[in-house]
Amino acid sequence: MDVSDFDFGNKVNLTDVEEGFCMADDDWDQQNSSTDLLLVGKILGNKSLNLDTVGTILSKAWCPVNGVTVNQVGEDRLVFSFKHKLDRKRALEGGPWSYEKRLVVLNSVGPEDNPSQVDLNWCDFIIHIKGLPLGKANKNMVEKICSQMGRFRIGIDVSKPIPRLMKIRNDRGDLIVVSFKFERLPNFCYYCGKLDHMAIHCKNRYDNEEEIKTEDLPYCR
Ligand SMILES: [Zn+2]
Repeated sequence: MDVSDFDFGNKVNLTDVEEGFCMADDDWDQQNSSTDLLLVGKILGNKSLNLDTVGTILSKAWCPVNGVTVNQVGEDRLVFSFKHKLDRKRALEGGPWSYEKRLVVLNSVGPEDNPSQVDLNWCDFIIHIKGLPLGKANKNMVEKICSQMGRFRIGIDVSKPIPRLMKIRNDRGDLIVVSFKFERLPNFCYYCGKLDHMAIHCKNRYDNEEEIKTEDLPYCR
């Protein structure tokens, strides 16, 4: 039966349980703000995790003044519970972080969100763009490059190979090639450029009949 079936304007007999209870505004706010102290995350790569070690190592990186605890949700998701918003903000905005040289992807979670469904495909990186001609590195161009790569604000889709360079043509067809240098880039696959494994475990490399020396791998150059 749907709530809309009831006409609360007329006399409806409700049981004690149905009469419910009053909840103070503070309690509503408490419920809504509880996710303000949470982050959902995952650590790329298919290795099992020791939660205590994860908590210890990321605490060393984040240095939360009021502490943080970590719990696992499902197979590979982690929920970090902070005790202060500033500690959470520093972890969310100060990345990218890594654990054993594997990328830690973090995202906020809203009151209505299911932690197991929060988007964990994006991670902000600090990128230096090399190769822009002197005097041409204007805001429009940088924004255009960023939007071509993924999200504005140098967000990178971690499910795809990391971009090494980008070709840019002007109206006359002149070509410029800019390259990207990532700060604090964790381990990644030098064969296919993805962040969730290394070249020694790369399925694409196994599928390729041709033997390629490590120093000749596409992302090594
Ligand atoms: Zn690979």
